[in-house]
Amino acid sequence: MERRRVIGWAARDSSGLLSPYSFTLRETGPEDVVFKVLYCGMDHTDLHQMRNEIHMTNYPLVPGHEVVGEVVELGSEVRKFRVKDNVGVGCIVGSCGECLSCKSNIEQYCNNIILTYNGTYKDGRSTQGGFSSLMVVDQKFVVRIPEKLAPEQAAPLLCAGVTAYSPLKQFKGSKKALNAGILGLGGVGHLGVLIAKAMGHHVTVISSSDKKRVEALEHLGADAFLVSTNAAEMERAANSLDYILDTVPAVHPLQSYLPLLKVEGQLILVGVAPQPLHFSSVDLILGKKMISGSFIGSMEETQEILEFWAEKGLTSMVEVVKMNYVNKAFERMERNDVRYRFVLDVAGSNLE
Ligand SMILES: [Zn+2]
Ligand SMILES: [Zn+2]
Repeated sequence: MERRRVIGWAARDSSGLLSPYSFTLRETGPEDVVFKVLYCGMDHTDLHQMRNEIHMTNYPLVPGHEVVGEVVELGSEVRKFRVKDNVGVGCIVGSCGECLSCKSNIEQYCNNIILTYNGTYKDGRSTQGGFSSLMVVDQKFVVRIPEKLAPEQAAPLLCAGVTAYSPLKQFKGSKKALNAGILGLGGVGHLGVLIAKAMGHHVTVISSSDKKRVEALEHLGADAFLVSTNAAEMERAANSLDYILDTVPAVHPLQSYLPLLKVEGQLILVGVAPQPLHFSSVDLILGKKMISGSFIGSMEETQEILEFWAEKGLTSMVEVVKMNYVNKAFERMERNDVRYRFVLDVAGSNLE
């Protein structure tokens, strides 16, 4: 198969501004799926990468790691998809395939994962993401979008959704009626509320102010809302939660939240804070509490969250925008001016 010329939108420098960029895809092989990009979710991580704030960004950088597309061509060994199927790609497009994590189907914990963009592919070329007309990805890292699910609805599930689903899966089918806490109501948090509710948990949204109360209770269907700066409210809620999904990607005081957990309760970190977080050991020792972390999800779990979403008839709240609005949309995302996820209509945009 030959190399294809495609058009994406790329950042050229640490201003992070995106503009049209023409490049070639890598050569396709027998295990590859070639698909036309339909929609792509937008994430805070994209912004950090575009501005070279995480690890060395290779410019030009085409971001996008919540990619939904339609298959246009399949390698000779690909059996699980057909041309015209809707498929999805999340944060990773490769791993070593040999380590314990890879062999245990938790390839997101492989030490040699290849990121969907700003990664280095096996052929030495930089990977480029979903803000682009076409992609080629190894079938192992491609999931099927259920027919019942609209492609723009599926996009946020491929990173934000599976990030919430992977750690919550352990509570699925629990015999006890679980009390869940969701800390932070952004892209991951809002999907966390919907997932925990769909699992039958009693869901409390914990927020630093009252601003999101109506959204949490009325739009997302949470059962309770807790303002963390209200000491009396926090006191009353002590020892009430089985787990807290902590989605806050900033420094925040864990000692305020740990007392909310019941004995053997678990605080699960999924947001990356730029500096160390602090807590008192007593808050864990008295109550046998646990702090854990979780990183995106496996390919298997990514497929599962899509099926779960379709089966439960859930709706992700997205604002669909065209590519010529992308820079403005990132600007708004930075001000938290989006409910809750921007999704780019890539196929419906003029990329030139
Ligand atoms: Zn591996
Ligand atoms: Zn992401």
